[in-house]
Amino acid sequence: MRILVVEDERKLAKTIKKGLEQESFAVDIAFDGGYGYDLASTEDYDVVILDLMLPKLNGIDICRRLRQNQIQIPIIMLTAKSQLEDKVNGLNSGADDYLAKPFAFTELLARIKALGRRPKVSLGTELEVEDLSLNTLTHEVKRDGRGIKLSRTEFALLEYLMRNKDKTLTKNQLIEHVWDYDADVLPNTVEVYIGYLRNKIDKPFKNKAALIQTVRGFGYKVGR
Ligand code: CA
Repeated sequence: MRILVVEDERKLAKTIKKGLEQESFAVDIAFDGGYGYDLASTEDYDVVILDLMLPKLNGIDICRRLRQNQIQIPIIMLTAKSQLEDKVNGLNSGADDYLAKPFAFTELLARIKALGRRPKVSLGTELEVEDLSLNTLTHEVKRDGRGIKLSRTEFALLEYLMRNKDKTLTKNQLIEHVWDYDADVLPNTVEVYIGYLRNKIDKPFKNKAALIQTVRGFGYKVGR
């Protein structure tokens, strides 16, 4: 899952990014509202974490503009003021949730996961494809009851493929949801990581059907 953090307090933004990356999310940061709006309206994010008070364009304006342009990304609004008025404003502008600063990181994470569970993005914590399972909370991956160790990027890639089970995803779609904006993604990066996944998910299970499929000319899918 790829997340955009729009927050002008640099230290806080970086702390959020670091924490989310440890949870296998790809994270981009915008330090002002203008750049935040540009990214949110042109890139394909799964969740946006949006501060209320921002230079150039505030959180409520960003939210309203996104919704006016039919961009339905789940948005969590952050604000330093815990007044009810802000909460009402934030939700009226089209935010999906609201979190008052200061907050515990675990609380933010819980909100992201709760938003993710809504049907819009259809996310669960336990994903299954045939005898392969992946738990987004514990980060456990198992096939045929056997534990499989994955790197952070391998995990993120497999998670995105499993959330879209049986759907063919193009390399660009995978890059947009698995890698952040600053990552050095070369044209063959996706292929390389698909290869790593095959070595761990399919190759050791020779008597089983391969689950990671190449759809020639289109991309990749997980399923049979
Ligand atoms: Ca701020």
